[in-house]
Order: sequence, then structure tokens, then C-alpha cells
Amino acid sequence: MSDLPNLIEKVYQTNNLTNDEIIYLIKNITHKDRELLYSYALKTKRAYYGDKVYLRGLIEFSNFCRQDCLYCGIRASNSKVERYRLTPGEILACCDQAYKLGYRTFVLQSGEDIWYTDEILVALVHEIKMRYPKVAITLSIGERRVGTYQSLFASGADRFLMRHETASKELYEKLHPTMRFDDRRACLRALKDIGYQVGAGFMVGLPGQTLADLAEDLRYLKELQPDMIGIGPFIPHSETPLAAEKGGTLEATLVMVALARLLIPESLIPATTALGTLHPQGRELALKAGANVVMPIITPTSVRKQYALYENKICGDDQPEDCRYCIERRIQAAGFEVDLGRGDSTQFISLGADNR
Ligand code: SAH
Repeated sequence: MSDLPNLIEKVYQTNNLTNDEIIYLIKNITHKDRELLYSYALKTKRAYYGDKVYLRGLIEFSNFCRQDCLYCGIRASNSKVERYRLTPGEILACCDQAYKLGYRTFVLQSGEDIWYTDEILVALVHEIKMRYPKVAITLSIGERRVGTYQSLFASGADRFLMRHETASKELYEKLHPTMRFDDRRACLRALKDIGYQVGAGFMVGLPGQTLADLAEDLRYLKELQPDMIGIGPFIPHSETPLAAEKGGTLEATLVMVALARLLIPESLIPATTALGTLHPQGRELALKAGANVVMPIITPTSVRKQYALYENKICGDDQPEDCRYCIERRIQAAGFEVDLGRGDSTQFISLGADNR
């Protein structure tokens, strides 16, 4: 196998590596190689998106969840969580505030909460689109029937985030006792076919995750060609079965972010809140390693802390406007430019899909 700088040069030039090359690279990468990898990822991001960093306002509207993912703090079995659910009226009030703060993408995320029926969600999406025709709506509400995804798309939803979590079937089924690997993939496929801009992604440092699994995560993303790719470190939560596990590191996560940028150069890649939780400069470092999206939280401060997928999540006491301006300063200090536009992926724009 060629040495590391050659492999890094190769992925930069060709946007491709074999699984064996990816495994070799992540296994043997040194501090110096990492800097080279990040610099190439940054160059690639600049070639596709310039210095722009897109902002999305994130509304975490319910922490009720019927699933029981072993890693997640809001899993159904965690009886210590104080559950909350924002009414459609409260969600609309968040959207109004988000719009005033300049956001032109609203991300509506929740546990899998079927209190929000198809009718409620369709009416909500429709109302947001009526108020703000130019805003992009991103949903991140987990697995539903294909018919539901279709109705939500028809009512105006533009994008859908659903991480594949891990590309290893065995690991997936261990971590998700109430879910099936094939169902998750079928949902992602269906969302793409319907016409959503789709976000997939995975966690780094899951217990039992191998380097081969991580290489497969990247391979799967390269095949799926999602518009967005969310990659974050796994952070153990004390009220879950994985409380005593180690969790992902900053370096390992940044390497995966950089490789995702190089392998799928046209994707939108968030600098995740989980990275910001792991390290005070985690998000800025991700921006310098190829990420180009930040999703400041606009969930009302009264319930924010209850949406604890993992502990010590940043910004728990902040107001939406604090996050908006804090992140702007951070992005500028890191040498990038805030873009408050819709920020569609170049893949989506070049398909002409924005004219629907
Ligand atoms: N119910 C939605 C939203 C899930 S929460 C769905 O199924 O898509 C958003 C993401 O948080 C998850 O996809 C998962 O990758 C991440 N997450 C959950 N628990 C985590 C933890 N303990 N550490 C890091 N990331 C976590």
C-alpha cells in the first residue's frame, strides 16, 4: 500500500478510495498526515462552496420517543427524562422567531413521537410554507410510512435528515433493539425517490465499531449520494445501557468529516453540536476539515435541556438569539462567511430540482 501522503493526494484527486485504503489510512494516520488531510478537505469544500457556511435553525420539538436506541438519552426506556412536546402553535412561534433572526432553513427534529399524526404534521408544514414560502423545511422525525413521507413532501417539506447510524448490520441491530437495519435503508431510499434532499450519516466511536465498519459507512454514503452528511462522535449518556462506554474522539470524527468531504465533495456537511460538546473548538475544527453547515439550536430555553440525546450538550441555557450571534462570531473568527440563504446542495441545484 502506498504511504499516507500519497493516499491523501489520491483521494483529493479522484474522490475515491477502496475500503482497504480507507482502513489503512485511518489506522496509520499521524498528526502530520491529519493536517494534510484536513487541508485537502478544506480546499475541496472551497472549490464546491467557497467560504460559505450555511446556518439552519434547529427546533427540537418533542423528546417523546417510541424507539429504544441503546446510545440515546431520550430512548423510550429512560424513565428519568422529563418529556415535553411543543404544540403546533409553539412550533410556529419558534419559526417566527427563527425567521426574524434570519434563518431560511428550519430543521424540525424530534424523537419518534406518533402524537404528531400525519394530519398534524401536514398541516404544520403547510402553515410554515404559507407564512414563509422561501424557507426550506427540513424534517428529522425518524421512521414513518412511505405514504407519510409523500404527504409531507407534497405539503412543502424540502429535506429530510435520517442518519443511517452505522453501516454494519450486526452493530445496527445490537444498538437498535426496536428497529431493523433494512427498514432504515428502505426509508432513506424512499425519501430520495420522493424527491427530498436527504441527509444520512453516522456516529464515530460506537462500542464495537471497527475501522472496517467506518470504511463501510463512507462507502455507503458514496453510493447513496446524499445531499447532507451528519457525522458526530458517540457521547455516552449516564441513563443508558452504554453509560460506561468510551465514546468517539475529536480526531477520529474530524478524520471522518474530512474523508466524507473528499469522497462526496458536493455534500453539505454540518459541524455537529456533538463535536462542539466534545471540544470547545470542535465545530470550528470541523469547518476547517471540510464541514460547511452549522445548526444553531432555537428550541425554547424552557425545554432545551430535556432534549438530551447525550449529556453536557452545549448551549443549554442560551436564548435563540445568543446562539445565532455566538455562532456567527465563531464562524467569522475561523475565517469563514455566514450565509443565511436556503443553502441547497450543489447536487440538488444541478439536477434542477429546486424548480418544483
Ligand atoms: N428520531 C430522529 C432524530 C434522532 S436524534 C431519527 O431517528 O432520525 C439525531 C441524531 O442524534 C441521531 O441520528 C444520532 O445519530 C444522534 N445521537 C443520538 N444519541 C447520541 C449520543 N449519545 N451521542 C451522539 N449522538 C447521538
